[in-house]
Amino acid sequence: MFNIFIANVNGPDNGFARGLGSTTLVNENFSAQLLIHELGHGLVLQHTFDGTPQNNDDCDDTPFISWTYDRNGDGSIDASGNRCWNLSNVDTSGINLCQPNGTTVVNSHPCCEQRYQNNNMMTYASYASDPNVSAFTPCQMGKMLDNLLNDKCDLIDEINPGCPPASAHIGLLPIVDFSEDCKFSFYFQASTNEVEYRVTYEVQQPNGSFTTFRQTDWIDGQAGQDRVAVGTKEHDKFANIVLLSNATYNVIIETRNLCGDTDLYARQFTTGNCDLRPADDGGTFNPLEDGSVVVYPNPSINGTTLSYTTNAEADIKIYLTTSSGNGNSVQTLLKQADSGNKEACTYSVYFPTHELGEGLNYISIHADDNIVVRRVQKNN
Ligand SMILES: [Zn+2]
Repeated sequence: MFNIFIANVNGPDNGFARGLGSTTLVNENFSAQLLIHELGHGLVLQHTFDGTPQNNDDCDDTPFISWTYDRNGDGSIDASGNRCWNLSNVDTSGINLCQPNGTTVVNSHPCCEQRYQNNNMMTYASYASDPNVSAFTPCQMGKMLDNLLNDKCDLIDEINPGCPPASAHIGLLPIVDFSEDCKFSFYFQASTNEVEYRVTYEVQQPNGSFTTFRQTDWIDGQAGQDRVAVGTKEHDKFANIVLLSNATYNVIIETRNLCGDTDLYARQFTTGNCDLRPADDGGTFNPLEDGSVVVYPNPSINGTTLSYTTNAEADIKIYLTTSSGNGNSVQTLLKQADSGNKEACTYSVYFPTHELGEGLNYISIHADDNIVVRRVQKNN
């Protein structure tokens, strides 16, 4: 049993554990983030910034942010460090670097910016009750599970002596703003009780319903992560899941233990405008004639045609992405015969019915660095 007291804590702390591994916790409020943080201590986790050097928590995979900082902008480095753990960092001389008093700050201190914040549960940023600051690393998970299995078996026995419950969760890294971020990872978290897991992706159809377009089998072992890239410009070799811009998805993990008990965690999100972000060079001339890109018939029963007009010679690539059928991945077909360097003209590209998937399809036309995507519904 864990003994958790809600009580006023003297001093600046919001809560504490009675030492690493202790099952006695004191919290000042009912914040779930605070409780999880203190439970982390109860399961022997240290702060990510504890110790000397300041990342000596016995986990090599906890976030380590190092920086140097020219506090007054005179060209010489007068502060450096490797820990950003809340938004009011105080340096060794007692100056609050985010709200300096008597010091002219020319360059904003790195730790004062949300994007440099550590999203790990075992920092003080976790007290902010921001559900995005909720990450545990694999090392931290391992330490907690070790502690539970070796030193706190009685707690598991109390829950259910035969079969501890299954538990599923999906975490996110980095702190993701879906409207802007085109690459991120889903971390599928579970307890040690599962023997199997299954991950499902669903995409929202124009009528509001969701269709499964990707589902793993039930897989033995602990779930890992999916590295996601959104948009036709964001495919890269590290992504194992490619999603479309401006589409709403569910990602679901189900877990199952030896007794067949299951748990399910679903997260809904809408991707941003990743196809249409301007090029790094500040934008390029678009050879595609505005409004000329049409797909007909749509919905399609017996194939469909893409028509487009260019007003300058351009390097054209045309892709078809299908997102239908249980168990099928998103697949991308390059229409090689209709791609290549093409002079200004009006073109049409035919997609026979066997190339289209049931439900939603996406046709994207790349003209140099410009990309336009059209959705096509296939009905049968
Ligand atoms: Zn703490």
